[in-house]
Amino acid sequence: GEPGTFKDRWYLERDPHRFIEGALIAAHCIDANAVYLYLRDEYAAGRAILERELAALHAARPSLPPIHLRRGAGAYICGEESALIESLEGRRGWPRLRPPYVAEVGLFGRPTLEHNLETLHWVRDLVEQGPTSFKQHGRQGRQGLRSVSLSGRVRRPGVYVAPAGISVRELIDEYGGGMQTGHTLYGYFPGGASGGMLPASLDHLALDFDTLQAYGAFIGSAAVVVFSQADSARTLALNAMRFFEHESCGQCTPCREGTQRAVELMSRAKWDVPLLEELSAVMADASICGLGQAAPNPLRCAIKYFPQEFDEDFV
Ligand code: SF4
Repeated sequence: GEPGTFKDRWYLERDPHRFIEGALIAAHCIDANAVYLYLRDEYAAGRAILERELAALHAARPSLPPIHLRRGAGAYICGEESALIESLEGRRGWPRLRPPYVAEVGLFGRPTLEHNLETLHWVRDLVEQGPTSFKQHGRQGRQGLRSVSLSGRVRRPGVYVAPAGISVRELIDEYGGGMQTGHTLYGYFPGGASGGMLPASLDHLALDFDTLQAYGAFIGSAAVVVFSQADSARTLALNAMRFFEHESCGQCTPCREGTQRAVELMSRAKWDVPLLEELSAVMADASICGLGQAAPNPLRCAIKYFPQEFDEDFV
C-alpha cells in the first residue's frame, strides 16, 4: 500500500508460482501447519490468479499445508505486520504493542513467520543458485539486488531489478530512460510517501537504509518517485500528509490528531515552520507504529531541502 510501490503486484501477476513455491518452502522450513495470504482487495487480478492456482495446487497435492487466501479492504496500516494479523483474525487493523513479537505470539496466538510477497518471490532463486548469485551485484560497496518501483517524471517508469547501492541518478539514466522531455530532476522520494524526499543535489547517494538514514530519509520498499522543476516539494509533502491523515488507524493521539493538524497547517499559504517542526517531533517520538513515526518525513524534508519554497516571494 505504500504510494509508488507496485513491484509486488508486478511479480504476483507475472509469476505467481514462484511466490507460492517460496511460501511453501518457508512453511516447510519452520514446520508451519498453515499458510495465510493477505491480499489487498484492490488487487482483483492477482486474487483471480491466486484462486485459480491455489485450487489447482490443492487438488494436485492435498498433502501440502493448506494455503488460505484472505482479502483485506485495502487499508495502508494493514501492511504493518501486527495490524495485518489483527485484520486476519477478523478485528480492526490496529497495530499491536510489542513485545510480544509476532514470531512468538502471532496469528491466532501462534508463532508466526510473516513475509512480504517479494521476499518469498526470491526464495527459489536463492535455493537454486545460492547467495553468491545475489552478492555478486552491488555498487558503492553494497551487495545484492533491489526491486525498484520507479515512477514519476521519467521516460520509462516500471519495475527494475537494480544492484544494491545504486543512486537515483543512475537509476533514472540506466533504467528509466532519462527524465521526460522538458523536465530536469528537482527531487525524489526514495521510498514512497513515508521515506521522505531528497533534492537533486543528493542524486548520487546510495539508495540503501544506512546511507539515507543520515539524511532523514529511507528506502523502504524502494518506491522511487521522481519529480521535476514542474513540481513543488511543498505540495508533494502536503499530498503525502493528506494520505497519512486518511490512512491513520486512529488508535493513538499523536498520529490521529497530528496528521490532521499538520494538514491544516500545511494547507495555509504560509507555513508556521517552528510549530510544524514541534508537531513532527511529537508524532515521530510518541506514535505507536511506523505510520505516525514516518508521516512527518516528507514535511521535514521539504523544510530542510527545499527552503527556497518557503521564501516570501516564492511563486
Ligand atoms: Fe494507528 Fe497512527 Fe498510531 Fe500507527 S501511529 S497505531 S497508524 S494512529
